Amino acid sequence: MRRRARIGTPLVAIVAGALVACSPGASGNGDDGRLRVVATTTQVGSIAREIGGDDIELTVLLKPGVEAHDFELTPAAGAAVEQADVILVSGAGLEGWLDETLDTIGGADRVRDLSDGIALRIPGEDEPAHEDEHADEVDPHYWLSAPNAIVMAENVRDALADAAPDLADAFAERASRLVMRIEAADAEVRAMIDEVPVDDRRIVTDHDALGYFIDEYGLQFVGSVFPSLDVSSEPSAQQLEALVTEIREQDVAAIFTESSVNPRLAAAVAGETDARVVDEPIYTDSLGAAGSGADTLDGMLLHNARVIRDGLLGG
Ligand SMILES: [Zn+2]
Repeated sequence: MRRRARIGTPLVAIVAGALVACSPGASGNGDDGRLRVVATTTQVGSIAREIGGDDIELTVLLKPGVEAHDFELTPAAGAAVEQADVILVSGAGLEGWLDETLDTIGGADRVRDLSDGIALRIPGEDEPAHEDEHADEVDPHYWLSAPNAIVMAENVRDALADAAPDLADAFAERASRLVMRIEAADAEVRAMIDEVPVDDRRIVTDHDALGYFIDEYGLQFVGSVFPSLDVSSEPSAQQLEALVTEIREQDVAAIFTESSVNPRLAAAVAGETDARVVDEPIYTDSLGAAGSGADTLDGMLLHNARVIRDGLLGG
């Protein structure tokens, strides 16, 4: 797993108060005997909540609206990780910020990596705006495709069943309900993207997070404002200029912003082109807040497809 020093990055400042859904009895399992589960991201947390139901005591480390590449554990979050029976991670290099804690507490054997069994993509040279230095980096945003979300659900089901075999049937039943919903969303997403003429499916986003969605649903990636898989460093003036040129040459209609990224730079880029910024953000690193409709994997995929379809059609 890749680890990068990110000392001084302002993104570290998002840490404060980022622990959500921590149970009041942080001493965990001892209180009521339920399985103590930690989920790193909102995506992982949503799946764990649905499949675990009331049978687990769930702590989700990241809160909605926060990008997932940089995070610093609060003491309370560290304690939850330390006490967890199962630690569900998104994997694929996303949670380098957890490695040190796991090393310290010796928690590696309780970690279940939800990217197991998923064909991970490595952004290639076909992505003109991509930074060369990250050319061999695995794209961790695999949850942005329904088939991959189904693998995640199956991995959560198996992880929970391994930790609490007597509850395996309950986990399996909830998992199959979730999988059916994701399958239905998948069909709907395909139908929505089909409404967009093939030649108009050119996508510009805030950061290079949409690769799996683009591959799965037949879109075309032109570039991203942050020309990399994360948002750890601001794009240079030359990189922004190259993106502006691409947008002009390819006559891109819309720039899509993400709920977890400040849209300031996207607006600046749009101002140099005929493209417009789509105000309603798509969800990439984070699901939507509870009640938003995009707080589940299937809800998020449907939301993104609708925003992208409408944005590309000029709606
Ligand atoms: Zn990301």
